[in-house]
This record gives sequence, structure tokens and C-alpha cells, in this order.
Amino acid sequence: MNRKRTKIVATISDKNCGQEFIRQLYEAGMDVVRINSAHLDISGALKIIRNVREVSEKIAILVDTKGPDIRTTACDTPITVEKGKTYRFEGGPGLKSSAETIYVSLPGFARDIPLGSLILIDDGDVQLKAIAREGNSLLCRAEDDGIIGSRKSVNIPGVRIDLPSLTDKDREFIKMAAGNNVDFIAHSFVRSKQDVLDVQAEIDKYGSDLKIIAKIENQQGVDNLSDILEVVYGIMVARGDLAIEIPYEKIPPIQKMIISRCIFCRKPVIVATQMLHSMIENPRPTRAEVSDIANAIYSQTDAIMLSGETASGKYPVESVKTMTRIALEVENNKEKFMETPYLNATGEVSSYLAKVAVKTSIRISAKVIIADTTGGRTIRDMASYRGYNLILAQSYSERTMRELALSYGVYASFQEKRKSVDEFIHIALKNLTKTHDFRGNEIVVVLAGNFSGGSGFSFIEVGTIQYLKDRVTIHEES
Ligand code: PEP
Repeated sequence: MNRKRTKIVATISDKNCGQEFIRQLYEAGMDVVRINSAHLDISGALKIIRNVREVSEKIAILVDTKGPDIRTTACDTPITVEKGKTYRFEGGPGLKSSAETIYVSLPGFARDIPLGSLILIDDGDVQLKAIAREGNSLLCRAEDDGIIGSRKSVNIPGVRIDLPSLTDKDREFIKMAAGNNVDFIAHSFVRSKQDVLDVQAEIDKYGSDLKIIAKIENQQGVDNLSDILEVVYGIMVARGDLAIEIPYEKIPPIQKMIISRCIFCRKPVIVATQMLHSMIENPRPTRAEVSDIANAIYSQTDAIMLSGETASGKYPVESVKTMTRIALEVENNKEKFMETPYLNATGEVSSYLAKVAVKTSIRISAKVIIADTTGGRTIRDMASYRGYNLILAQSYSERTMRELALSYGVYASFQEKRKSVDEFIHIALKNLTKTHDFRGNEIVVVLAGNFSGGSGFSFIEVGTIQYLKDRVTIHEES
């Protein structure tokens, strides 16, 4: 068993989502599939969901809703932009862009954007300046040569546009996600707690347990992080837009700060965007990309993400394998325990036992930690110490099992709820020895406690695999 602890989120397109491809990504180390609603429709998303569920019920699915973002509309052929030339921009969701008029999804674009603003397209690859208004059009001068493809991001740094938290398309995708057992909604451009509450209200309409990941991608999101953390399941550091809205040299410290805040709050955190960008075209990563991934792992992120690399790149499986290799190497060279400040996350007893279990497993060179869970909170509390040993969670809920796919060092499987700790240990060992090659003399730490009607850990036991098997069997037979 040589599993990485850092999790991998891989974006998949409906154009390449065959079961064999998904299986290869999963075996290479993918833990969560991301579906980007900017690039497909509901039927495309459903096709991906169906195929993922056929491959494994353990792969979590995250649907990325676009939130209050602005994009260019689709075009038949990419539009070539030449430095110094002027281009006509208009608000026109649903209209096709061409070299004559580039339409964007914000209806009042020409009215709302102040003259003199910089218009950054496709993660800043194309830069224009708003120079004049003409009827419903905004005339913009290109500052560089470039190409604008279909549905590219549009950022206007420093300009606050009062967009609603959700678009109609977001609502459609949330409804679809709620009805199809999707695990996470990653909502774009979360600026405040209210944006998250608006998404939650939409999810609540369907009585769904969908969990919200807030994508932090502008200054407002960074400024309001503490409030946002109160109401989200997790955070994505969405560096594509973040590094346009905020000068790029400020991103590394912001990334580090967000990861630490998330660990302290026991909330999963994903570092995203361009982690292996060159592997869209090339079979090997650049040295800088290897270091970027390593840096995120040294900062103790829960997960790292692939976008174009797996959605449309030439080397998707190699990209996941590359991340896995880097993760395994870096994790073996990190501290084995992180002194995360103690937090009464799940009740005093279970929060304390969570810390003790992780520490104990390292002191006595245990092989793994085995723990039971209903909602996953106590498991995430354990994960916050970034211990060396894997946490093999036995979940009484399939949804929780998949949610834990995003948590550092946690591998979860489903187990029916048991009546006693011994019965739980018996079944856990029986199940786990099928998939993990345990030896009888290897020590495990068992943490459990969902048996007496309450929740949270109340029980800790340390023993060799053989001792636990014998003890529990003997107990059951007596
Ligand atoms: C990002 O901006 O970095 C990101 C992950 O979001 P999107 O792919 O929607 O641009």
C-alpha cells in the first residue's frame, strides 16, 4: 500500500469521458472528477456522471458553477486580435462572437465598464483597453496580439460589477447535481458569505446534501475569507482568475494563507490552475510545475487540481501519474505530524482523541488508522494534523465516503452501521484485508464511537492486526 495522501481533482470533458479513460485516471490517482459547467450542457454533465459512477462509487463528483463571472460567447472560429487595432464588444449572452463583434455574457457590458479599464481575456492572455462607447458597444484597443476562442473568461481588475450570486445556468446545474447524487458544487467568484448562502438556499430547495466549495478568485473573496469559511464545506484557490484580479506576485502568500486558514477550520482546500499546464501539449512537466505542485503539498493542501490537462490535453493520464509521483515523493520528505492548533471541532472528547490517535500512530509506527464515521467531521478533524499514516475511514454513508475523497490522507469505504465496536472492528478488518496487504504483526490504531446513539469518537484501541482479529473473533464467539 503506497497511496498518496494529497488528493487529485481532475477536470473531465463530455468529449472525452469514456469509462476506460476514467478508469485509467482513477488508477493513476484521481480522487475527484470536476465537471466544468462553462464548457458543457446538462446532457454532457449527465454523461460524465453516469460513466464515473460505473467506474467506482468512491470517486467524488464536483460540479463547477460559473457564478457571477463574465465570459465571451461562443464563436465559430477563434478570433485573431492584433496589437493596436480596435475591437467592438457588446453584451449579448446567447449571440455568436465574431471578428466584427465580440459578445460577452454581461448584458450591460458597454454601459457598466468605465472607459480606461483593462479588459483581460482568457486568463489574461489577451489584454485590451476600453477607449470609447458607441451605442451599445464598447470599443476596446488591443494591447497585445492574441487569439480569443469560445467562452473565454473576461476580467476587469479593480472594477466591481454588481452581479447576482447565481445565474440561471448555475440554477439548472445545481438542480441537476441535486437530482443525480453529485457530491460538491464549486461555486465561482464567491465574494462574500451571502454568495454562499444564496447557493445553499438553491440547494435546500431540493433537500440535497450537496456540499459547497467556494472558489476564491478575487480580492473580495480573499478579504471575506473568514466569513466565507463559516458557511462552506471547503475552498478552492482558483489561481486562474485570482492572478488576474490581483497582481500575480501576491498569489503565493495568499495561497499559503488560505491553506493554513482552511486547515485550522478543518475545511478541505484545493489548489487549482495550471499546475501541469505544459503537459496539455508535452509529455513531461517543466521543473517549475514540479516545484509548484511540491510547494502546494509542502504547504499541506488537501488537494491539487488539473483543468485543461485532463479535459482536453494530449497527456491526461500521464498528468495524473505525474502528480501522484510528485505527491508520494514530497509526502515522504515532509514532517510526519503537523502541530495544527487544537480546535474543539466535534466535541471535546472526540476532538482530543482525534489528535491523540494521529500522534500515537506516528510514535508507535502504526501502519494505518482505522476509524468509523457518519458525517465525516471527526475524520476531517484527524486529517487536519496531516499525519503520516493513512486514515482508513469506514463510513456508514456512501455520500460521506465520497466527500472524504477530498480530504488529506483519508481513504474511505462503506460499511453498514454496526451494533458494537467489536463488530465494527471485525467487519473493518475483514473488508480492509481484501484491499490492503496487512501483515499480522503490523500495528493499527482504531478510533470509533458511533455506537451509543451519540456522534464522535469515544473509543481508541491500539493493537496488531493479528491481536485485533483474534480478540474480536474470540469476543464474538464467547
Ligand atoms: C480558476 O479560475 O483558476 C478556475 C479554477 O476556474 P475556471 O476554470 O472556472 O476559470
